[in-house]
Amino acid sequence: MKGVIFFSALLVAVFSQKIFVGDQVLRIATKDVEQITLLKDLEELEHLELDFWKGPTHPDFPTDVHVPFASLQAVKVFLESNNIQYSIMIDNLQSIVEEEKIQISRSRSTEQMRNTNSFNYASYHTLDEIYSWMDMLVSEQSNLVSKIHIGSTFENRPIYILKFSTGGTKRPAIWIDTGIHSREWVTQASGIWMAKKIATDYGKDAFITSILNEMDIFIEIVTNPDGFYFTHTKNRMWRKTRSTNSGSSCVGVDPNRNWDAGFGGAGASSNPCSETYRGPRANSESEVKSIVDFVKSHGNFKAFISIHSYSQMLLYPYGYTKTPVADQQELHNLAKKAIDALSTLYGTSYRYGSIINTIYQASGGTIDWTYNQGIKYSYTFELRDTGRYGFILPANQIIPTAQETWLAIKTIMEHTYNNPY
Ligand SMILES: [Zn+2]
Repeated sequence: MKGVIFFSALLVAVFSQKIFVGDQVLRIATKDVEQITLLKDLEELEHLELDFWKGPTHPDFPTDVHVPFASLQAVKVFLESNNIQYSIMIDNLQSIVEEEKIQISRSRSTEQMRNTNSFNYASYHTLDEIYSWMDMLVSEQSNLVSKIHIGSTFENRPIYILKFSTGGTKRPAIWIDTGIHSREWVTQASGIWMAKKIATDYGKDAFITSILNEMDIFIEIVTNPDGFYFTHTKNRMWRKTRSTNSGSSCVGVDPNRNWDAGFGGAGASSNPCSETYRGPRANSESEVKSIVDFVKSHGNFKAFISIHSYSQMLLYPYGYTKTPVADQQELHNLAKKAIDALSTLYGTSYRYGSIINTIYQASGGTIDWTYNQGIKYSYTFELRDTGRYGFILPANQIIPTAQETWLAIKTIMEHTYNNPY
């Protein structure tokens, strides 16, 4: 009887979640623009159900693509017949997804969620766990931290931000968001670590104390709650929101193509089935609109940092146009300073530059909009790694990733503090 119950439980677990048995992630090295064009053609073949983790952009940079088992042969024949080189980055995606699940359940069996000190920062957590953790932090340090409900998702989950403030009204402020793409789990986990770091350091660390004596810091840890819930319950590789699209059975909008900056231009898709679907109109996603409304009504943000993974890059606007931003030189120099600080801890190396020159043209992106709103210090991070694990970064890298990223963020904060505008 026990065996039957166990087996049924296993079946439920297997059939309720998307599985990736035999799926591979290929790293493709293109040698010229022609091969990039061929990969873009491959991207259009919807029946292959390819998921480009890193799209084809430039012959100098690899393309990473998750290929379902059923499409592997076709894709490999295509690459080989076109003389395109590739290697296998992840051999069986299901096995690393399962390793991650085992790590989480092992951590959960020993973790005590009594307070924010007993929380395991070196593990991944569910939406409920993160929301309870936020409540614990607020209740432990209500003099410094508060929680603001800025809106609700398509599936009606609350969207929260944490506010770190020592008083005043609408002080100059710094924004940090993590997890707008839900599968980028190291980002939400780093957001949790950084929020705890700020709360711990205030009153002890001279730098963070002086910042908080004059400025406020806002952190949105789970910026795409529906998508994040879905990555834990149904499909670990989910990136977009979970809104339905009229006239299509494909779900979700890319919330980093939905902002009102070059919306609808090149570098976003009009196809609801695409991972970079821009949505029916700018701000159609409440996850985006809630931030837009909050930022506009606040009116005094001086720095805006939006955190993604993976590929180890620090980027500034623009993504939608080649026209350089007016503050290009200052943003470029500050990016360099920030990644130099980041690398001092573990030697992790980052690339940096404007989005369009460093990765690819992308329209409707977060920081293009924030920059156009007058928030000069607008940056996007792409955290670890460069493509060994991609989105499934092992949990033992959470704390090192957060620690090194914090050094870069502190550099940006310090510059913002020292250069009021
Ligand atoms: Zn992302």
